Amino acid sequence: MDNFKHKKSLGQNFLQDETILNNIVNAINLTENDLVIEIGPGQGALTKKIQEKEVNLICYEIDERTRPYLEKIKESKTKIIYKDILQADIQEDIQNYKYENLYVIANLPYYITTPIIKKIIDSAIDVNGMILMVQKEVADRFCAMPGNKSYGTLTIYLNYYFEMQKLFNVPSACFKPAPKVDSAVIKFTKRQKKYEVSSEEVFFKLIHDAFSQKRKNLKNNLRGYDLEKIESILKRNNFNLSNRAEQLPIEIFVQIANHLEDR
Ligand code: SAM
Repeated sequence: MDNFKHKKSLGQNFLQDETILNNIVNAINLTENDLVIEIGPGQGALTKKIQEKEVNLICYEIDERTRPYLEKIKESKTKIIYKDILQADIQEDIQNYKYENLYVIANLPYYITTPIIKKIIDSAIDVNGMILMVQKEVADRFCAMPGNKSYGTLTIYLNYYFEMQKLFNVPSACFKPAPKVDSAVIKFTKRQKKYEVSSEEVFFKLIHDAFSQKRKNLKNNLRGYDLEKIESILKRNNFNLSNRAEQLPIEIFVQIANHLEDR
């Protein structure tokens, strides 16, 4: 189609498959009163699909060389910000918009998947949901269940804020150029009922410590904590200190963290 030189360093694998592009935008019920943030529009394949929903759309794209493509498809409800998403002040950029729901939709640049998601959470912009294309292994980690080897601090961090659902896998052949890894699309839905954590600081420190050495059990990783108290909570839930952190559901970490707070 053209002589655009894809930059591997910017994760520029452009999605070519019409069905998958449609499935991504149709994974949430967008209405014209919604505001969508797209990260990394590239040449605009997904952008065009989002525009068809007549939403307000803000796109962040780091690579100015995409400007000719994006300016060509730009519509009145679309704003394109040529900037590194990690440097953006998202809260300020959306402040003049009125909207019912705020969504993030992106075929992410994989080299910064986690920093981007953390940035969105830390920006406190109250997103209702996200549809994100990520590397397949990363999708498995995000959506892992307790007992699975992919279940870890990142799984708990994300599940604390969102209900996570893997929608479908995407073979590498659907991109140009084809990346070395397969991909998957995940739906993040803001938790209506949040976990009742007395102190997020205590909760996230507990998670960090419990998983600090993956192969060690809770007794070893939580040395220095009130192990007697923790053991009694574990026993009540049919676990014990010989279990590893990866076996515990989030609810039990919440119970433990809240008791640590009580003291
Ligand atoms: N949305 C297009 C598609 O689906 O074909 C392109 C997706 S491509 C996987 C990722 C896009 O993210 C590229 O256009 C790349 O230039 C852009 N990108 C990379 N790093 C970025 C950053 N820090 N901030 C904003 N965009 C970035």
